[in-house]
Amino acid sequence: DVALRLTGVTKTYNAGSPAAVEVLRGVDVSLAKGEIVALVAPSGAGKSTLLHIAGLLDTPDDGTVEIAGTDLTGAPDRRRTLVRRDEVGFVYQFHHLLPEFSAQENIVLPQLAAGIARSDADARARELLEIVGIGTRAHHRPAALSGGEQQRVAFCRALANRPSVLLADEPTGNLDPATSDTVFDALMALVRETGLSALIATHNMDLAARMDRRIRLDQGKLTAL
Ligand code: ADP
Ligand code: ADP
Repeated sequence: DVALRLTGVTKTYNAGSPAAVEVLRGVDVSLAKGEIVALVAPSGAGKSTLLHIAGLLDTPDDGTVEIAGTDLTGAPDRRRTLVRRDEVGFVYQFHHLLPEFSAQENIVLPQLAAGIARSDADARARELLEIVGIGTRAHHRPAALSGGEQQRVAFCRALANRPSVLLADEPTGNLDPATSDTVFDALMALVRETGLSALIATHNMDLAARMDRRIRLDQGKLTAL
């Protein structure tokens, strides 16, 4: 069972011009169901480009992207948007929560957009908040939450629609080291509990060591770490 597979992915920005940047040069990676993989890359190595291609936010020049067993190479935009909504969760360094809504509402909204009934969406949000240890914060707005709590809510929101794959770009990069550690534990608990596959970019080798496998992106190629 493969949740995510990239095969022979290449990407060059400004191709054919003197400013051409060859970012990915034949990248192959596949995530088994439930697998948590650390993506380690020096700044500028193409980590964001790789995550955006994996999450159907960008298209490769060449190569294929498969999510949950479906090859989406050349799929129309409408279909890519639906697969992104239903199968992919994103987490960034900053939480991007909606400030005027509570923690629970922030997790409910993407579910309503996907056609889930309000009562089911509420139950799902409560369940996720419990897993990450902030069930008592459901009705707080983001501004009333600590940085670590805000990030936990963002994790729950990313998983609200039961995606197959979580793509995370430095999910604890904005937090102090102690908070980063416990918030990362919450993320791991959430991923394990939901049986999700995750590709998590991090510079933190202690966090990378706690994942199932580590890969390094350098000079446009992936290697095992
Ligand atoms: P990372 O996330 O590892 O820092 P990125 O994927 O953001 O790396 O960028 C990889 C390289 O591609 C960098 O040299 C960056 O300047 C270049 N790049 C990224 N996006 C664009 C773009 N839209 N146009 C031109 N060059 C880009
Ligand atoms: P940190 O130590 O991570 O910076 P804070 O001091 O911001 O955390 O918050 C500590 C606790 O108080 C958190 O659990 C947060 O939910 C709660 N809290 C902070 N501000 C408010 C507020 N305006 N209203 C309600 N609860 C708050």
